[in-house]
Amino acid sequence: MMSRRTFLGTTAAALGLGGSAARAAKGDFEVTRSEAQWRDMLSEAEFRVMREEGTERAFTSPLHDLKTPGIYQCRGCEQRLYSSEHKFDSGTGWPSFYQPLAESAVGTKPDRSLFITRTEVHCSRCGSHLGHVFDDGPPPTGKRHCINGVSLTFVEA
Ligand SMILES: [Zn+2]
Repeated sequence: MMSRRTFLGTTAAALGLGGSAARAAKGDFEVTRSEAQWRDMLSEAEFRVMREEGTERAFTSPLHDLKTPGIYQCRGCEQRLYSSEHKFDSGTGWPSFYQPLAESAVGTKPDRSLFITRTEVHCSRCGSHLGHVFDDGPPPTGKRHCINGVSLTFVEA
């Protein structure tokens, strides 16, 4: 008898689906690169945050204060992640958004690295770490996507 995972994987492959539809295991993303490839294309600081779930120092990102209309893309794969329309000043020192551009643009998982459980958020296409989501954001969502600026590139509207 086929396991559920095998069944889903087979179906997704048969339909030619990529990305989230075919994702079965952690790290199985539409865009994948070896560690060497990631190190080639990222600075040391970018690699530490995006591939090792590090955190940039607060108030260091030039994107933190940016109010120019435009789209924030993933530095790892150029997927469109956030819009200036949903950006707000959280006072925390990191670029903050109350929602992603599309729910499908990001994935989340529990992060138990501190003594509290936080919600880790990453790019749904390449798995690069973006930051964390908290429940103390403004209306209409009440969410605060606290994002490392180094994980993003900005494209002016
Ligand atoms: Zn990405």
